[in-house]
Amino acid sequence: MEKAIIIGSGPAGLTAAIYLARNGINPLVIAGSQYGGQLMLTTDVENFPGFENGIKGPELMRKMIKQAEHYGARFEYTNATSVNFLNTSPFKVTTENASYESAGIIVATGAKPRRLGLESEDKFFGRGVSVCATCDGVFFKDKTIAVIGGGDSAMEETNLLAKFASKVYVIHRRDTFRASIIMVDRSLANKNVEVIYNTEVKEILGSTTVTGLKIYNNKERTERELKVDGLFLAIGYIPATAIFEEQLEMDHKNYLVVKEETKSSIPGVFVAGDAADYRYRQAITAAGDGCKAALELQKYLESNL
Ligand code: NAP
Repeated sequence: MEKAIIIGSGPAGLTAAIYLARNGINPLVIAGSQYGGQLMLTTDVENFPGFENGIKGPELMRKMIKQAEHYGARFEYTNATSVNFLNTSPFKVTTENASYESAGIIVATGAKPRRLGLESEDKFFGRGVSVCATCDGVFFKDKTIAVIGGGDSAMEETNLLAKFASKVYVIHRRDTFRASIIMVDRSLANKNVEVIYNTEVKEILGSTTVTGLKIYNNKERTERELKVDGLFLAIGYIPATAIFEEQLEMDHKNYLVVKEETKSSIPGVFVAGDAADYRYRQAITAAGDGCKAALELQKYLESNL
């Protein structure tokens, strides 16, 4: 039986692994077949403390894995396919290859930004298409960009991007925003922001980087091209929590509910990072959660083993 299993290998899971391993609880990390989380898809990370010239997202994640391994964490690069946390001790985790039992669990499965589903979105991801203004906004200084979405995230991204870009188009598929009035007012108060309502992006144009969009007005049923240098998707997130359905308490958008101090609805199961956090979604906040979850799990083991 394991003392601790960590499901997920983004900054939350890996920080938890480093803390547990250094404290002598060599955790098993179910890292997923695509390890490292969202930072594996980003280029330069300039806001993670300690790297004065920035660091590539994948490099940062590989360093975290090496650090965790150095202190004794073990990794399985497969996906967890089911769990049993209910009325059972130890907890059970099944992967594509094996079944495990563990006294404690940290869930750090993260979330994925919702995508439009266009082929060109994949082609230009990291080359003009981004899902994080905090991470990538600075690369669009004095450029023209578009933000897609009509929720609070889109407004927040727009407000931030308006400080860098010369022009920000907000492209929303309806004529009313889902975002709160205060967020809309704040974003649209920027003079370089213009909203394009009732409009959907049909194609992202360019050769090596983004140069424009093919957009479709769904009221007028007309299509046109819009010149932009970048595109920020802010159309919501999908937490990677499907395997915890019927096991852990979730909110109406399937984010895991944290009771207090990273504790889930089941004692002994802790939650860190974007699987529970729709508000901040930063590598550093996820890492902070991972640290807290590891310390809480350690305390739990001390009084329950
Ligand atoms: P959201 O509220 O679900 O909004 C997503 C937006 O994207 C909606 O306007 C939706 O359009 C649009 N959308 C979804 N799929 C689309 C598609 N395929 N094509 C085009 N548009 C699409 O997501 P969110 O803005 O990320 O916010 C998530 C939660 O976090 C919310 O509860 C929000 O209040 C919260 N949040 C809070 C803050 C804050 O308080 N500072 C900041 C960010 C987020 P429709 O409106 O037509 O459905």
